[in-house]
Amino acid sequence: MERTLSIVKPDGVKKNVIGEVISRFEKKGLRISALKMLHLSKDEARGFYIVHKERPFYDSLTGFMSEGPIVVMVVSGDGAISKVREIMGATNPKEAAPGTIRADFASDIEHNIVHGSDSVKSAEYEIPFFFSSIEIV
Ligand code: UDP
Ligand code: MG
Repeated sequence: MERTLSIVKPDGVKKNVIGEVISRFEKKGLRISALKMLHLSKDEARGFYIVHKERPFYDSLTGFMSEGPIVVMVVSGDGAISKVREIMGATNPKEAAPGTIRADFASDIEHNIVHGSDSVKSAEYEIPFFFSSIEIV
């Protein structure tokens, strides 16, 4: 059993695909172990994406991530990290495989609907960023 952190980003909330994203995880046998909606400040978004602080897109990305509410969730199951990444599709929707969330809903490489931890190490930073242990079932 593995845990990963997923986010329906502000564009996904606006496009009304919260349920669609969760449903795609559930249909692949993954389980939702924690879930909430919140609105990040720019500083909080900077903290979440601190690994990208030197990247040229850092300021724009953290602006986007703090422009509206998001839904954050812990997704659990066998191989949850790679399964969620597969269901999401490639970062750039133009390169995302057909039938993935990003291919179906994302408008561009920044506004790409969904986040998923990319490794155990990332999940270990990202899950406690949003949830305390008593909030995860
Ligand atoms: N991003 C961007 N421009 C880029 C690469 C990434 O705006 O050239 C944004 C995009 O929203 C992406 C996030 O930054 O989801 C984090 O980038 P990462 O490379 O970690 O992609 P992910 O793991 O989300 O597929
Ligand atoms: Mg990433």
